[in-house]
Amino acid sequence: MDCIELVELITDYLEGTLPHHDRERFNAHLSECPYCVIYVDQMRATLGALGAIPAESISDAAKQTLLHAFREWKRG
Ligand SMILES: [Zn+2]
Repeated sequence: MDCIELVELITDYLEGTLPHHDRERFNAHLSECPYCVIYVDQMRATLGALGAIPAESISDAAKQTLLHAFREWKRG
């Protein structure tokens, strides 16, 4: 799994509807990607505060910002 796929699956992951196989791949990515760990923590906090993840919180703009950060990080 890469960061883009993780971002696309995070809602299912946090809502517990992600299939077991994908959940394992999701966790495997988290074990090697600190940026996604932070992202998941933020999304989990959003879910805890609102009871749901608003669609706009995973807007294209937010996604682009996140993926830009990933690219900068990987370029190192
Ligand atoms: Zn990642």
